[in-house]
Amino acid sequence: MERESLLIILTIMLGGLALQLVGSWFSTRVYACQEVEQSAWLRLWRPLASALLVAAWLCGWALSQPDPVPHHVGPLLFVVCAPFALIGIRAVVRAGWALLARSGELGIATVGLIYPRIEVAPALAAQLDERAIRAALAHERAHVRHRDPLRIWIAQLITDLQWPWPSAQRRFATWLAALEHARDDEARAQGIEGADLAAALIASVRFHHNSRSVVRAAQLTGQQRSVLEQRVDRLLQPLASAPARIAPTTLQLTLICACACLAAVALGRAYGAQVIDLLLAFS
Ligand SMILES: [Zn+2]
Repeated sequence: MERESLLIILTIMLGGLALQLVGSWFSTRVYACQEVEQSAWLRLWRPLASALLVAAWLCGWALSQPDPVPHHVGPLLFVVCAPFALIGIRAVVRAGWALLARSGELGIATVGLIYPRIEVAPALAAQLDERAIRAALAHERAHVRHRDPLRIWIAQLITDLQWPWPSAQRRFATWLAALEHARDDEARAQGIEGADLAAALIASVRFHHNSRSVVRAAQLTGQQRSVLEQRVDRLLQPLASAPARIAPTTLQLTLICACACLAAVALGRAYGAQVIDLLLAFS
């Protein structure tokens, strides 16, 4: 069998297994809505990092193997691999559908993955006073600055790869709530009154009460209506300063992840053959 073909099969199977195991077990705690958005965002990526490490370990193993490999792959391996492949296909199809589907009437929302832009439904704008519109636009401009439609789309894809575990869905919902809080705070830090933003939020909820949202848009109301009441209460409180945190930067985390992957490649090259030989013997 070709070495690369076996590598792809093993990566889907073992990487998918790592993603499912870590995704179901890791960080099942539901965090408070005041969770810092960036921390919640990084938490979404942790299960994917486990799958990446497994793939790096398999690449290390492949480097130590001849091409074609002398192994025979039995049907059991394909049977075990199939569910993970199907979960991956489902996630990709849903991500593609989110790109192609029409967004419909979103009220006030930021849309566009590459070039985010703000869309305001004229019927909703007519219901808002000038202060509320200014507050809503400040919130949406914060979404634009951070390219949130793209981040929501990626987060949904990562969550779908961990289907059907509810812990993954909870991490996604927690991050979405933290995202809305963070954008509210960003708008208020620029001088927007919380009460004006709350008024725009309530009017927007009423406007598309019966409409379905799509994941690529960052709506004023966010994705979870269950947290709206808490969000309005928060907007009516004085703006609290965020607690000081010493969190690693994205660059630092990327470097740590890259070093871990290199270590996994080295381990796979040195010790991967014994494990894979044993695995293939059972297939
Ligand atoms: Zn928003």
